[in-house]
Amino acid sequence: MKVAVFSAKSYDREFLNAANAAQGYPHYLSYYDVRLRSKTASLAKGHDAVCVFVNDELGAETLKRLAELGVRLVTLRCTGFNNVDLATAASLGITVTRVSTYSPYSVAEHTVGLILMLNRKLHRAYNRVRDDNFSLEGLMGFDLHGCTVGIIGTGKIGRIVGQIMRGFGCHLYGYDPYPSETFREIGTYTTLETLLAESDIVTLHCPLVPENEHLINATTIAQMKRGVMLINTSRGKLVDTKAVIEGIKSGQIGYLGIDVYEEEDSLFFQDLSDTIIQDDTFQLLQSFPNVVITAHQAFFTRNALTDIARTTIENLTCFEQGLPLANEVKQM
Ligand code: NAD
Repeated sequence: MKVAVFSAKSYDREFLNAANAAQGYPHYLSYYDVRLRSKTASLAKGHDAVCVFVNDELGAETLKRLAELGVRLVTLRCTGFNNVDLATAASLGITVTRVSTYSPYSVAEHTVGLILMLNRKLHRAYNRVRDDNFSLEGLMGFDLHGCTVGIIGTGKIGRIVGQIMRGFGCHLYGYDPYPSETFREIGTYTTLETLLAESDIVTLHCPLVPENEHLINATTIAQMKRGVMLINTSRGKLVDTKAVIEGIKSGQIGYLGIDVYEEEDSLFFQDLSDTIIQDDTFQLLQSFPNVVITAHQAFFTRNALTDIARTTIENLTCFEQGLPLANEVKQM
């Protein structure tokens, strides 16, 4: 198939080319560093499929343009698909596939990295020591052993976070509309209210769907323990950033670690170090000493990129050959 790969970075080219080569070069891949949106959709002309990532915009307008150009497949090289208008895709006869599984350890381990960094204030300690400031004032942390960790979404990633945190000696609460037996072996399911009220660390591992946008808001923040650590490596819009800022200012939120941000599409995956950031909310968030932000890099391990590229090439091949599409995304 002829595939237009959008938002292509050097690592996308490297891993997709390697996977395509390993499978005998079944597809012709053209790379575009721009994001897919209605204005850039014309780049897909002459291609059968587009391959996209988390911040490409596949709303109705983009999809209609793609359909006019003859594109029949949207293949996401990520798990989340909240950026695709599935109803419009279905009505236009465009099939959507994703990478439903890739190293869940990548995101889970990054989540734990954020927890440790915040708790032991490693971001501040690192800068201090480089400045020949060896004072410990302000660097005191707390033992994770004995803490309660509330995991919202106990799917593949949430369960691994739970297993790692169990290794630290934490107690686990889980909240998930579809409970898993694997999680029950290590933790206790409870209501969202109890999880929020009793957890020292709350970490988000559920997908973003319209029903849970701003799941973490002024009301749910008020239900949390004072000084709670909030971690989001899932999707930015699960959290109302302005409410979180108020929570940090009042001391209700003691620590915030995020790998995703609700307005990240104008910031992340690009070098803006020579520009003036216009997003005041993001800049304010950055200014707090108890906030650690990474730019959607939790997935970014060579293991995960290998899995993602292999599955993406397989998705293309299955579609081309009319084989069952194990990774098809259908409207619920
Ligand atoms: P998964 O499908 O295995 O698990 C998601 C779990 O969330 C499921 O058990 C589901 O029942 C549960 N869930 C759904 N709605 C919920 C709700 N409203 N409240 C609580 N739980 C709910 O997915 P996964 O592989 O574990 O990935 C989880 C999320 O991580 C993805 O949806 C994606 O948004 C995010 N993610 C982030 C990165 C990154 O680089 N930061 C990379 C991959 C995935």
